[in-house]
Amino acid sequence: MKITQIASALYRIPPLRPRKDAIQEFSAMELLLAEIFTDDGLTGVGYSYTIGQGGKAAKVLLDEDLVPCILGEDPSNVERIWQKMWWRIHAVVGGISPVAMAAIDIALWDLKAKMAELPLYKLLGGYRDQISVYTTEGGWLNMSLEEIKEEAIKAVEEGFTGVKLKVGKEDPLEDVKRVREVRKVIGDSIKLMVDVNQKWTSTEAITRGKQLEEFNIFWLEEPLPHDDVSGHATLKAHLTVPIALGESLYTKQAFKAYLEQNAVSILQPDVGRVGGITEWMKIAALAEAWNLPIAPHFLMEIHFHLAAAVPHALFVEYIPQLDPVLEEPFKIKKGIFQLPQTPGHGIRFDKSKLKIYQVL
Ligand SMILES: [Mg+2]
Repeated sequence: MKITQIASALYRIPPLRPRKDAIQEFSAMELLLAEIFTDDGLTGVGYSYTIGQGGKAAKVLLDEDLVPCILGEDPSNVERIWQKMWWRIHAVVGGISPVAMAAIDIALWDLKAKMAELPLYKLLGGYRDQISVYTTEGGWLNMSLEEIKEEAIKAVEEGFTGVKLKVGKEDPLEDVKRVREVRKVIGDSIKLMVDVNQKWTSTEAITRGKQLEEFNIFWLEEPLPHDDVSGHATLKAHLTVPIALGESLYTKQAFKAYLEQNAVSILQPDVGRVGGITEWMKIAALAEAWNLPIAPHFLMEIHFHLAAAVPHALFVEYIPQLDPVLEEPFKIKKGIFQLPQTPGHGIRFDKSKLKIYQVL
């Protein structure tokens, strides 16, 4: 079988609700879609994203530099194709290049699962048939105290395993109050995570982390800038709350640095940012070797498969941002997602709904 054509498109989908954290605003989901066609008629669909900037650059990189080097390849040679893409653009490696690679890599895995007539999670390992979810949608920093309390109560009623709150207000006491009040309304058995989005300095994080520890925090996410590995190691030694991070890391080598310095407790790789499933599975294997759990960042629709494929995934992050452009929104029941049994990843984009958002 040979790859005959790769069609890409970029869509700008507005956020389902205003989403702000301590350092940025999610201004739009730039969805980069790649569809791979083959000479025997099978197709694979892949995608990646940005939170509002850089999508056009990623699409041009994909079209101009990645597509020409893989046309004619056998699509089942996913590792070979991933390596070809990586070395083709390695001199400009950064945030944009793995985003471009991810759309193609995910399409290749979708295609491979269809060839094998298996749901993607079974092709990748097949550890479980369902996975639980936690929600971030009710905890954005721009929401009022009343709003986050209401959303937390709703999340518990709907059966979510956990809720995540953004923190990083200018006044530390305001963070403490928001976390305390939400813990009060959700009770002790629901997991509560807090996410700093890299806002704090190392010393600030020790003080502010200690202030939050008493509320039985399941993890403290991205307390420091993503490249401050030693800062995270120091912080981890000072706190009892587990440190989670990974959404701002783009390679297995970046994760390795954190593991070697004992600077992280829970890994959060994002398949759209690490160059796709090929690299995500290697990062998952690294985590397993260090006996650390993983909890993927965002892109729940594809991460359901990856989390179900491996033994050490905790749960998946609920942000249903693709709902407006899918043929059918994903159904979560009582905080649990049942994996589909159709071949491939089963994410069916509705081209007519996507059309209104197309920018390139
Ligand atoms: Mg985060």
